[in-house]
Amino acid sequence: MSTLPRPDLPHVIVVGGGAAGLACAWRLGERGAKVTVLDPRRAPHDEGSHGGFTRVTRHAYHEGTSYVPLVREADDAWCGLERTPGELLVRTGMIEFGPVDDADFMAVLEACRACDIEHTMLDAAALRERYPVEVPDAWQGCFTPSGGYLRVGACLEAMRARAEAHGAQVRTGARAVAVEPGRVVLEDGHVEGDHIVLAAGVGTPSLMPDPGCKLSVVRRLLFWIRPRVAAPSLPVWGAMTPGGFFYGFPHGNEGVLGMKLACHTSAAIPGLDEPIEVESVDRSLRPEDWAPVEAFLRAHLPSLGTERIEHKVCMYTVTPSWDFLVDRHPSIPRLTVVSGLSGHGFKFAPALGRLAAALVLDGEAAQPEFAWSRHV
Ligand SMILES: Cc1cc2nc3c(=O)[nH]c(=O)nc-3n(C[C@H](O)[C@H](O)[C@H](O)COP(=O)(O)OP(=O)(O)OC[C@H]3O[C@@H](n4cnc5c(N)ncnc54)[C@H](O)[C@@H]3O)c2cc1C
Repeated sequence: MSTLPRPDLPHVIVVGGGAAGLACAWRLGERGAKVTVLDPRRAPHDEGSHGGFTRVTRHAYHEGTSYVPLVREADDAWCGLERTPGELLVRTGMIEFGPVDDADFMAVLEACRACDIEHTMLDAAALRERYPVEVPDAWQGCFTPSGGYLRVGACLEAMRARAEAHGAQVRTGARAVAVEPGRVVLEDGHVEGDHIVLAAGVGTPSLMPDPGCKLSVVRRLLFWIRPRVAAPSLPVWGAMTPGGFFYGFPHGNEGVLGMKLACHTSAAIPGLDEPIEVESVDRSLRPEDWAPVEAFLRAHLPSLGTERIEHKVCMYTVTPSWDFLVDRHPSIPRLTVVSGLSGHGFKFAPALGRLAAALVLDGEAAQPEFAWSRHV
């Protein structure tokens, strides 16, 4: 299982030791490259994009059917890292529901059809009967047994362990202040390498030399509620409502004893996608953060109540299309960027690491939707 770095392969410096960076370190190390990871902190932590203990994985990808092979690959890889089933990936199944003519809901159904994803359709009555949801008669549900959630801390630990088993050096206390061809400048020195992978999450936009591509950082909230009913029969769920895309997790004890839920996107919430400065992100809870989530609960999960017990502020690094950026820098070929994971990247980490290793070691072209040219 473990390998030593091959002297004929480049020494790769990976900036960022979060979801993407550890995946890149693992996949590059597995291919035989010498790898050094730099991060000020040891993940998991709450400073970037992976805070909050759990992340959804889902196969009926409404963002585009090209993501489906990647999520399948990543799921297999997560399971391959597990010592016992369910250690990293908890396969609860996923129920997604919304108006039948909602574009995202229709895209879920299209993904099921085009990619042969096992699913069960439910009409509004069946939805109400099976789950504690309240929906208009014209809404439908789609249950996919392949959906579930990932345990963030365990996933990061497993990727780090695999990277280290392949000889990667994972350094903490190492904040990059600049990325230059062939070297990364730290607060107290620099590190030289043959190739650099910039995977610093919300730190990426400010470190990107000669940017020319559009990455911004937006703020998001995660909430936990104490449900009024003892054990609500909900797996991982996603609701495509006219007020936005809300999602949540089963009741459980993953970091916080309660039910976690959040709003991913909403054209109805003013300023939700306003770019922010990472250093001065507002970590307080504003009334407008909770109001749409509370309104969603009252309208669609009324039996759970609205007793909020915890919240966390997190950030997405987004591209204009919300597709990922996984490509070599156009004017610095020995710099590869894995960023812009746009609030839905965690589940893909093992596959993104494999793509990055192919860019770095094989000179492969980027997957078209992740190419630099798409995000300028
Ligand atoms: C609220 C919320 C909910 C989400 N839900 C889901 C979900 O359900 N499913 C899903 O698949 N995805 C989800 N995501 C997205 C997913 O968590 C991110 O796409 C993923 O964590 C991004 O990985 P990353 O490595 O780019 O960033 P991170 O995981 O944040 O890692 C970046 C690392 O870079 C380090 N770093 C930063 N600056 C520097 C520097 N100057 N020098 C060195 N290192 C640096 C940081 O310390 C950090 O460890 C969610 C994100 C948020 C915020």
